[in-house]
Amino acid sequence: QKIFLDGEFVAKEDAKISVYDHGLLYGDGIFEGIRVYNGNIFRLKQHLVRLYESAKSILLTIPYTIEEMTEIVVESVRVNELKSAYIRLVVTRGVGNLGIDPSSCKKASVVVIVEPLALFKEELYETGIKIVSASSRRNRSDVLSPKTKSLNYLNNVLVKIEANLAGVPEALMMNSEGYVAEGSADNIFIVRGKELITPPGYVGALEGITRNAILEIAREQGYEAKEEVFTRHDVYVADEVFLTGTAAEVIAVIEVDGRVIGTGKPGKVTNDLLKTFRKIVEQDGTK
Ligand code: PLP
Repeated sequence: QKIFLDGEFVAKEDAKISVYDHGLLYGDGIFEGIRVYNGNIFRLKQHLVRLYESAKSILLTIPYTIEEMTEIVVESVRVNELKSAYIRLVVTRGVGNLGIDPSSCKKASVVVIVEPLALFKEELYETGIKIVSASSRRNRSDVLSPKTKSLNYLNNVLVKIEANLAGVPEALMMNSEGYVAEGSADNIFIVRGKELITPPGYVGALEGITRNAILEIAREQGYEAKEEVFTRHDVYVADEVFLTGTAAEVIAVIEVDGRVIGTGKPGKVTNDLLKTFRKIVEQDGTK
């Protein structure tokens, strides 16, 4: 496995970053998770736009143009000879002194890791998953917007730990007002008749690329797909619930906090969307 690290490809064992990197010291950096399906990098352009917007938001200068970064990601997939893979692209503030001031960091570090990955076992797409709601609240601060995919993921890590403690694969985050925001690393949708609803970004959800793809697909299929705030009650009484994400794809949720959703099996809408999504990802090229 070859890792892109600051301009060159190095073996996994040699891919090391300084302990003075502010990504480590302060979580000062940003990242993207991207999927490769059948040799196609899914919506690379959208991921890179989000990466550069995250960088702009935290005043981080990425030492490559978006075109150069596209080449770096494509090359990273090529050298690793993988047809289906997960790409982790990380940009940290770089090496500086121990102080919090990022002006001591002269150059951002860029890392691209490509490896085979499937988050959930295939059988879970057939059975659906149970989830719980977490006590950690999604930060909806306007300064560090949830739209910034920063390396400050401690809140999400705590949500994942709550899921682990409950013996389920994922947990749900509310924002400080109690509105449903998202999972630890995926977005949530509820289905009510012909309506498909996902929380708007301002509630505290990342505007996921998979989420946006599902909104598009659902509208094309005649659903009324919209962004609207909702509470846990709405989740409990929905006809169907599913999560979306680069790693999760589209996965049915069959129980939330002990409340059985719909029939307790993945619903037709979720199954159809997963099927269409998987068809599209096989065709969608680097765009
Ligand atoms: N929400 C959070 C907090 C995430 O980290 C992710 C993963 O990237 C998502 C949602 C899903 O977004 P996407 O579909 O772009 O992967």
